[in-house]
Amino acid sequence: MIDIAVSKARRREVLDCVIVGAGPAGLTAALYLRRFHRNVRIIDAGASRAGRIPRANNIAGFPDGIAGTQLLQRMNRHLRQVDGYVVHGTVVRIEQGPDDLFAVSLADQQLWTRNVILCTGVVDRRPALPGFEDVAIAGLVRACPVCDGYELTGKCIGVIGDSMQGEREAAFLQHFSQDVRLIRIAGAHCELDVDSAAEARVHRLPGAAQHVAVSKDRKVFVTMDDGSGHRFDVLYTALGVDPCTQLVAALGARLDERGNLVTDSHCRTNVSNLYAAGDVVSALDQISVAVGHAAIAATTVHNSLLPKTA
Ligand SMILES: Cc1cc2nc3c(=O)[nH]c(=O)nc-3n(C[C@H](O)[C@H](O)[C@H](O)COP(=O)(O)OP(=O)(O)OC[C@H]3O[C@@H](n4cnc5c(N)ncnc54)[C@H](O)[C@@H]3O)c2cc1C
Repeated sequence: MIDIAVSKARRREVLDCVIVGAGPAGLTAALYLRRFHRNVRIIDAGASRAGRIPRANNIAGFPDGIAGTQLLQRMNRHLRQVDGYVVHGTVVRIEQGPDDLFAVSLADQQLWTRNVILCTGVVDRRPALPGFEDVAIAGLVRACPVCDGYELTGKCIGVIGDSMQGEREAAFLQHFSQDVRLIRIAGAHCELDVDSAAEARVHRLPGAAQHVAVSKDRKVFVTMDDGSGHRFDVLYTALGVDPCTQLVAALGARLDERGNLVTDSHCRTNVSNLYAAGDVVSALDQISVAVGHAAIAATTVHNSLLPKTA
């Protein structure tokens, strides 16, 4: 089926590159490729993690941080200056034909391209904990210790975690505060050995959390299944993330043990002409890393399209 489609595509426009995802990674890749005068399309489903950051830290040149939505607006404006535009929609399928062209399908259109850069990010696992959304809306939930640890120096921190990753993140936060408690959720599957709390690197609250709420003085109040209550300045979720790699699973793209895409130093996956950048890649989930990947991927794509010298 794809063979017929590919031959039809020869009579259609073939793009230099399709970028899937317009978070910091995708927008940066598109900017670079437009500035290389490349024929590029960028498609986005509108759920960038960056859009959920109240104040993004660790971005050099922004000492007071910047709201994630504002950063995305700036990046979009920058892209428009070089005639790059985000197409709003969801890519539902990516297939590769025998001559390595990709067919990228949205609900209502199909694009043909020589290269794809996957910048689809990850989805954070949310705890099934009554009251959690109220605490999140109040701005008292954090999800990234690398991003916000510094701001929470000396604060009282509750970490929701049910696996060794939760314990690792809680241990990481102990560098910033001595007042860190690991909390598991009532009814949830728990990988931690709850009977060996004494051996844990971090202090675990006994029992499991049943409910969370915002107190009058804007603290997080956690009610445990034994009826006891605990107050925290902030709640961290350390439940892990799910990388958005479904689109390239059928292409045989290699994943690491956490489900992130494995790339080489040029951001190439093991599938020819398929690149990846940002959180979806096996690396540190940070904006500066995402834009770094994107710069490398876009420049490699551009170089691969230059006429070959003898
Ligand atoms: C609460 C929170 C706070 C954070 N704070 C910081 C911070 O202070 N500093 C920092 O450096 N980092 C921070 N991060 C991490 C930062 O948000 C990410 O590292 C960054 O957003 C990664 O960019 P990305 O482009 O890889 O992915 P994303 O920004 O997540 O963008 C991925 C995009 O791909 C789209 N997409 C996915 N699948 C498809 C599809 N099939 N078709 C079309 N589009 C698709 C999504 O809709 C989304 O818009 C924080 C994260 C969270 C959750």
